[in-house]
Amino acid sequence: MAAVFLVMLYEYSPLFYITVVSICFLITAAMVLGWFGFDVPVILRSSDDTELSLKIPEKRMVQVKNPFALEMVSGASSVTGGVRLRPRCLESCVLTCYWGCAVQGLQEALQSHQHGVRISTPHKFEEALHSDYQHHQTFLVEQGDPSERLSHLPADSGIRDLGFLPRVRYPLVALLTLAEPDVRELYEIVANVTVIHITDDKYRLTSRILYQYLLTAQGHVLDLKQLFMSADDQSWRGVSEPPEEEQQQRKEEEEERREEEPDLQESGSGESGWDCVVCQNAPVNRVLLPCRHTCLCDGCVERFRQCPMCRAFVLESFALSHHFTTNRQELEGLAGE
Ligand SMILES: [Zn+2]
Ligand SMILES: [Zn+2]
Repeated sequence: MAAVFLVMLYEYSPLFYITVVSICFLITAAMVLGWFGFDVPVILRSSDDTELSLKIPEKRMVQVKNPFALEMVSGASSVTGGVRLRPRCLESCVLTCYWGCAVQGLQEALQSHQHGVRISTPHKFEEALHSDYQHHQTFLVEQGDPSERLSHLPADSGIRDLGFLPRVRYPLVALLTLAEPDVRELYEIVANVTVIHITDDKYRLTSRILYQYLLTAQGHVLDLKQLFMSADDQSWRGVSEPPEEEQQQRKEEEEERREEEPDLQESGSGESGWDCVVCQNAPVNRVLLPCRHTCLCDGCVERFRQCPMCRAFVLESFALSHHFTTNRQELEGLAGE
């Protein structure tokens, strides 16, 4: 048997060697062509190349004009001493502060807004909340008036803290609504609800804004989120992750309920002087989701599957301004010539 096989191999050996050499030649040639970028079957390419060709989906955006902005003035804020708030509104507004607002009540109020009760005035908010709060205070804010308001509990309230965790009340909920009834027709956003934590003896977490919701006339509740951007160019160079306090944060609204999930851009945030952290050659214009780091230009975003700041996987991205996108296309056109 073995003898027959050996005889056959002897007879066919030139053919056998030629076949083996030809196959080896074909494989080598395909690999060399692959390195030089010619289109060869995918099995011969390295896995990194195929990964790069996957494109990060672009999030669909809707721009909405938001008449409300509210920030906490840094400095000592406490349950006994009060908190300083600075509203910045495009129209005359009413700022109502609800101290000791029930967590459950607020969730129910937001749900009732989605189910038909449109919260466009403090009165409607109080109704939806079933007046489940400890104290409230109202301020009228004139159009464009940036002055601070000090909101505090009355001296005789006797409230010094909100108790141990888990809590059933938020220390402070601030509601911004439009003062003039006919102005409400002009804006899609009818109210801003800001949930604020204020430090006390029982819970030492520093005072901060916990959530900001924007309520629309169509009954949507938008969750206002912050973007993480560099405060200045220099702090980003050679630094993998600057401390969060240094990052200038810009706000972006993310709608959660609608199918299209449009994001809303705060008016006037178009121009930015910051450079892309990767190429340092184009303005930052891309927000990566879900981490919300805003550090790449339109050109570099396609090269990353993971965020260069935090290494989180990028599921989606959107442009801050479409002005930059057209600029980039012009530049690419020039480079191609
Ligand atoms: Zn870049
Ligand atoms: Zn990130």
